[in-house]
Amino acid sequence: MVIDPVCKMEIEESTAVATSEYNGKKYYFCAKGCKIAFDKNPDKYVAGTEKGKGGCGCCGGGNCGE
Ligand SMILES: [Zn+2]
Repeated sequence: MVIDPVCKMEIEESTAVATSEYNGKKYYFCAKGCKIAFDKNPDKYVAGTEKGKGGCGCCGGGNCGE
């Protein structure tokens, strides 16, 4: 199971309608619209899926707490 970073839905890699690669990581989407939204502004969604990773969350830009 993976999380569609746009709508936060859990999907199976095998049933993903679209995929995208960003920063060497692969992301799976439940619909083409989700991929399009992700491709337009990947940072926004990547930051969302990795929230809490660095325990920071202060800037919202994904550049801190690596
Ligand atoms: Zn989706």
